[in-house]
Amino acid sequence: MTRDEVAALDAADPLAGRRERFDLPDGVIYLDGNSLGALPRATPDHVGRVVREEWGRGLIRSWNSAGWIDLPQRVGDKIGRLVGAAEGQVVVADSTSVNLFKALAAATRMRPGRRVVLSERGNFPTDLYIVQGLADLADVALRMVEREEIPSAIGADTAVVMLTHVDYRTGAMHDMAAVTRAAHEAGALMLWDLAHSAGALPVDLDGCGADLAVGCGYKYLNGGPGAPAFLYVAARHQEAFRQPLTGWMGHAAPFAFGTAYEPAPGIRRALCGTPAVLALAALEAGVDELLAVDMAELRRKSLGLTRLLRDLVAEECAGFGLTPVGPEDPDRCGSQVSVAHPQGYAVMQALIARGVIGDFRAPDIMRFGFAPLYIRYADVWEAVRILKDILTTGAWDRPEFHRRAAVT
Ligand SMILES: *Cc1c(COP(=O)(O)O)cnc(C)c1O
Repeated sequence: MTRDEVAALDAADPLAGRRERFDLPDGVIYLDGNSLGALPRATPDHVGRVVREEWGRGLIRSWNSAGWIDLPQRVGDKIGRLVGAAEGQVVVADSTSVNLFKALAAATRMRPGRRVVLSERGNFPTDLYIVQGLADLADVALRMVEREEIPSAIGADTAVVMLTHVDYRTGAMHDMAAVTRAAHEAGALMLWDLAHSAGALPVDLDGCGADLAVGCGYKYLNGGPGAPAFLYVAARHQEAFRQPLTGWMGHAAPFAFGTAYEPAPGIRRALCGTPAVLALAALEAGVDELLAVDMAELRRKSLGLTRLLRDLVAEECAGFGLTPVGPEDPDRCGSQVSVAHPQGYAVMQALIARGVIGDFRAPDIMRFGFAPLYIRYADVWEAVRILKDILTTGAWDRPEFHRRAAVT
């Protein structure tokens, strides 16, 4: 691959024009949109308008006149279009962690007599921690197995199988349809965490028969730091879905101010407290960027980017102790590439110092995320050129690159 060939890929890229819609700093190659999505240019104005007009002028009237009260469902339905969920099955609320708690508590109540939440040992820690917290309160047990053991480990005691669709560390992607089928054949429910899928690749929750799902607003959905998360409850389960955070926003009649909790019909019952209107406004602007493109097109570009990084690293950086992590076949991965290096932390800090922002995941993984809306093939080329330079010169071996930051 030559630099000219890479430039030709950008010239032929049908999504190339989308990059202009993001406000990216000069001199930065941002390969961390899987941790915090970039800022859409439309967001400051949209949020500013909500602040100045809806809040400033409309004041409390805006709950009705600006439709604030329906924002969790309205933005939820938009996210639903990205993850294959028909209307009325997704709400935006709380964080992914809190939504996991609500979904797991409801799911285990829907499978009385079964107490196991089955997951994989490599799952994202918060997912596993939330089950442990639930197990302190309810007759629930966490069972963790290796990825390959999952289908055979689903048994008569499994209430719910909880998996992250795309592994945050390796990028490996589960076969959503097949695993969901295996869960159902054993009588269990299937809960998917879409943190590294939503907005990165096509997902078909309804088509796969998924029961429950959660996902993140601040990663590929570009909702901004700490953006609220989403929760999917398949329509067929909503009647039986009883979640424990029985706040007034999930009540059938919140403004009747009665003393007895009664869940709202439909997906609204998944809400707890007052929605974060300003954060929802930012999230909506981020989601709109994705709704403007075809997810299959997005996936094609994502595969082009990840393939190029893998190929260039293999060609250019051989002999420097880099080891590819995760499945070899990019079709079995999400929109990220991970490479292990014994000094991965320091190498990543050196990359960041040179403007190539990826991240590090213990114990030794350098992770590069590719948000296809704003990453160019030329960025991949340049990132590998800088990586090669850092490895060749040993520029990573400086004291400041070894000092661990609070957030990595
Ligand atoms: C990022 C991520 C989360 C984040 O959860 P928060 O509650 O938003 O902190 C959860 N699960 C997975 C798999 C993630 O990658």
